Amino acid sequence: MKIVKTVKEVREQVAQWRRQGLRVGFVPTMGYLHEGHASLIDRSVSENDRTVVSDFVNPMQFGPTEDLQTYPRDLAHDAALVEAHGGDLLFNPEPDEMYHEGFSSYVDMSVLTEELCGLSRPVHFRGVCTVVTKLFNIVQPDNAYFGKKDAQQLAIIRHMVDDLNIPVQIVGCPIIREADGLAKSSRNTYLSPAERTAALVLSQAVKIGSDMVRAGTVEAAAVIGAMKEHIEAEPLAKIDYVKMVDVATMQQITVLDRPALCAMAVYIGKTRLIDNFFTQDILPEGN
Ligand code: AMP
Repeated sequence: MKIVKTVKEVREQVAQWRRQGLRVGFVPTMGYLHEGHASLIDRSVSENDRTVVSDFVNPMQFGPTEDLQTYPRDLAHDAALVEAHGGDLLFNPEPDEMYHEGFSSYVDMSVLTEELCGLSRPVHFRGVCTVVTKLFNIVQPDNAYFGKKDAQQLAIIRHMVDDLNIPVQIVGCPIIREADGLAKSSRNTYLSPAERTAALVLSQAVKIGSDMVRAGTVEAAAVIGAMKEHIEAEPLAKIDYVKMVDVATMQQITVLDRPALCAMAVYIGKTRLIDNFFTQDILPEGN
């Protein structure tokens, strides 16, 4: 496994693989890798001849009051994890390798970015779309792997490659959870022991909501109401949003008459955590 810091080195390595006719998979991350990231690497390794992982805390997707400065980093740990899971190349650029002086081009999206995290984090998805487009242009992978944990991001990336004719297949992968249900996240490291316990309200709310949908509830307000009630009973939790949206448009819906995403963001103390479920993943086909 090779670690590289420059765009040139990535391009040279991938070009060599291409000359050999090899299929390239790509897993973009912000590092501090855990089993959620590892599941994406495993999937890529199983479906491609070579796997590139990027490890870049992208300043452009953080708002001015967000956690860019404190975001956890550990390159040695990340490199060991990528290697152990069979990744071939770890791209770990410095910010000025990705954004040279005078950088002034952005990829922006309307509609799908209006709700959920797009509403609470106004600059976030512009940063995500811009960096992912750059990474796709640098790596030029056949397949790219994204977690359903960041469900709105996955929908936006799918839409973006379609809108902009970027020749890459986007693969969505299941949420990997701790044994007690908490979705794995690099940000879980911010939680105190009491907050770590309180954070279980997110996955518990996912269970409450998905059980109701499975049992046949079709009114979004009823599902969301029950989920919110559970979260609000936890004193350390403060809801940013709990919403039901159409998977195609990421716009709110009131009746579950089409494939939907039920997504939430909740502050546990100062830490903002997300979780969700897709109705398509829990209902039998045809519903
Ligand atoms: P991040 O490093 O948080 O930007 O995440 C990089 C990629 O890993 C994204 O596609 C995430 O959706 C995915 N990911 C993060 N946590 C998980 C998880 N618990 N399960 C599955 N995928 C995840």
